[in-house]
Amino acid sequence: MSRYIIAMDAGTTSSRCILFDRQGSICSVAQKEFAQHYPQPGWVEHDPMEIWSTQMGVTMEAMQKIDVGAAGILFLTDARPEDIAAIGITNQRETTIVWDARTGVPVYPAIVWQCRRTAGRIDALRADGWEETIRAKTGLIPDAYFSATKLAWILDHIPDARERAERGELKFGTVDTWLIWNLTDHQVHATDYTNASRTMLFDIHRLCWDKKILEYFRIPESMLPEVRPSSGSYGQTVKFGGSIPITGVAGDQQAALFGQCGFQPGDVKSTYGTGGFLLLNTGERAVTSTQGLLTTIAASVGEDVQYALEGSVFVAGAAIQWLRDELGLLTNSPQSEEFCRQVPDAGGVYVVPAFVGMGAPYWEPYARGTIVGLTRGVTKAHLIRSTVESLAYQTEDLLRAMGKEAGLEITALKVDGGACANDFLMQFQADLSNVTIQRPACIETTALGAAYLAGLAVGYWKGIPEVEENWSCQREFYPSISRETRETWRRGWDRAVRCAIAWAKDEG
Ligand code: ADP
Repeated sequence: MSRYIIAMDAGTTSSRCILFDRQGSICSVAQKEFAQHYPQPGWVEHDPMEIWSTQMGVTMEAMQKIDVGAAGILFLTDARPEDIAAIGITNQRETTIVWDARTGVPVYPAIVWQCRRTAGRIDALRADGWEETIRAKTGLIPDAYFSATKLAWILDHIPDARERAERGELKFGTVDTWLIWNLTDHQVHATDYTNASRTMLFDIHRLCWDKKILEYFRIPESMLPEVRPSSGSYGQTVKFGGSIPITGVAGDQQAALFGQCGFQPGDVKSTYGTGGFLLLNTGERAVTSTQGLLTTIAASVGEDVQYALEGSVFVAGAAIQWLRDELGLLTNSPQSEEFCRQVPDAGGVYVVPAFVGMGAPYWEPYARGTIVGLTRGVTKAHLIRSTVESLAYQTEDLLRAMGKEAGLEITALKVDGGACANDFLMQFQADLSNVTIQRPACIETTALGAAYLAGLAVGYWKGIPEVEENWSCQREFYPSISRETRETWRRGWDRAVRCAIAWAKDEG
């Protein structure tokens, strides 16, 4: 009986591979960073060949160093292909690759989700009156992040690309599709619902590529991958010495919600990384937001898709990095917790880290970072504490908007990402949002989600209940303050946000 599931985690800055066992425990990890290319201001590219070669490298490495030690003793052994039940893939979303169908050679570097080169194309799309159509069909607010304008850019700018695409000679894919294509020796050209839902070309209600949008961007449908359920068959790979099925695929945020066992409507996960991401499972209902949240497809098992509302915090852990690197107030990020505990409260100070504007639910791109409530007695500890608290306030803004729009009561929040290790922050979030915070034992939820999707498809796990049994909470944080205190805190934050926005308006 196969013993492990491989999760390939194709991230923005590195390729990783994790082997999980039936308990969802990590048996092996390997990781390699790859180069980020910035050919012009605002442009970001990756070499697709490097994405592929590093992913192959880390997978082989992870298969060669399985920890089978007991009682703290480390024994390393190899996994043979027959020890692997299946492969799951999770990836940086939206990043766009176009390659020659015959040779497999990319016609241009991967255009990364962060790349802003097509911002002008989005302005044109708005001027053409397409915003509402895009919103209604794809669930997305038109933006250069998504794949559509990146793919159109390649067809518009690379000599002969459009003609070749029309002759069926080129293929498009996000990173999952690119890896599957290479893993299966060019046999399978497919993606899953979650990744398709981030292209801005996919009708998330009818579950098909949208012909009208394709026509608008002059993208031939023949170059698009087949779209399949996140847990299902994506062919076999023989790259690791024997045949291994590929049976799970999901974009990183959706994989994380799945890895957090966010299977029920009302389940939410919050990631506290460099930025923050909230996903709320809304079940079979695709909820349309009026406050600028995105509607997207959640990873699910079977043909019936589940939907999610998604919101992001532009600056989360990055604000702690700012304290450390620009202000020099910290030597490392975890130290922020010690300072938070040195003072009984933030001393009336609010830091709004709107360094790059404010996203949902405010949508004020010209807002800038603001510190309010300073008095002569304010210390370094107060400043650090109020910056840490800002992660929770921004999360609370999204949580409130999501709960209201979905008509769901949110009582628990599953957390992951680097800054969720901060116990002070987690307790503050529980108090502020009046929810129970659940921090799982395994915070590698993205890779775990891909593993679950793959393992469920091949019967490695028998069904969702068996996966849920693996869920274990490392620690829970419960709300412990009065309603009055909570409301006072929130009022202060709302006033501080108004200051950050007023600053933008005055400037405009
Ligand atoms: P990403 O995957 O987005 O690169 P991670 O999930 O690894 O990010 O989280 C890293 C971020 O978390 C950094 O911005 C760092 O400043 C912040 N961080 C890490 N540990 C702590 C901590 N104990 N308290 C506050 N912030 C932290």
